[in-house]
Amino acid sequence: MGKAAMAFPRISLFRISPLSLISLSPLTLSVSPVRTLRLSASLSTDQHQQQQDSPSLKEYTTRWKPMCLYHTHGKCTMMDDPIHLERFNHNFSEKLRLNGMELKRVRSQNFDFFLVLDLEGKVEILEFPVVLVNTKTMDVVDLFHRFVRPSEMSEQRINEYIDGKYGKLGVDGVWHDTAIPFTEVIEQFEAWLSHHHLWKREVGGPLDQAAFVTCGNWDLKTKVPQQCSVAKMKLPPYFVEWINLKDVYLNFYKRRATGMMTMMKELQIPSLGSHHLGIDDAKNIARVLQHMVADGALVQITARRTSNSTENVEFLFKNRIR
Ligand SMILES: [Zn+2]
Repeated sequence: MGKAAMAFPRISLFRISPLSLISLSPLTLSVSPVRTLRLSASLSTDQHQQQQDSPSLKEYTTRWKPMCLYHTHGKCTMMDDPIHLERFNHNFSEKLRLNGMELKRVRSQNFDFFLVLDLEGKVEILEFPVVLVNTKTMDVVDLFHRFVRPSEMSEQRINEYIDGKYGKLGVDGVWHDTAIPFTEVIEQFEAWLSHHHLWKREVGGPLDQAAFVTCGNWDLKTKVPQQCSVAKMKLPPYFVEWINLKDVYLNFYKRRATGMMTMMKELQIPSLGSHHLGIDDAKNIARVLQHMVADGALVQITARRTSNSTENVEFLFKNRIR
């Protein structure tokens, strides 16, 4: 694709709560009021400590910029354009690092890598984002991000669907420019897994020293098998088990969280980006995961398919979110 043909991904930057408007610049995104208050209070009394330990909320959020979604697809042709680089983030791990204090508390996990996955699309999968996190450093090592073209929908239906869902986020253009069928997404995902030594087609079976982390069971229990059946392909064997972060959250903090936003609010993590843009949600879930691991959580498998059936899933925690 030539430069002329490529429009900027238009991404809505502004979802500002009234509280954050008071204390923060207009680039602030949806920041939980709790965090805003706590930080404004601590800035006056403990500013020096604040600067040493972590960037202030203002820095944290004002320096945030939307990801270049062509880049996440490996298709950005504007890497030499300073204005483009100024507007869009091309660094996968930005705003996704623990500070020194938090890192000291990270406990050792059963896996070397977490793969945070958060699908979008109710009728068919429209977006397949995965954030790869090293469990020793809790750093984001890489992203896999593909927009997915539905296999059983008319062009007109696809256009309405994408306009409704991604139009309001300003990324319908990049969706149309990059979306590929689910079978191709899975092929590319498997090549990516092999590249990171997490799975080999010749060997098959589950992931090697890695586990999927999702917010709820819907993504891997329900949606992936459904989409495989629509796309007339076998369910890949590595989707056999996963970690539902909400179950780990419940058992670790002894509190029920119904969704990602609740967990973020309770842990006072600012939500960055657009909610229901899969790549931003996956990164926000990765932030919750980082926070929980820094708090001392052991993030273990919570659900596993029994036999070859896609329907039967065994849940490994007695206390879980239903
Ligand atoms: Zn770019």
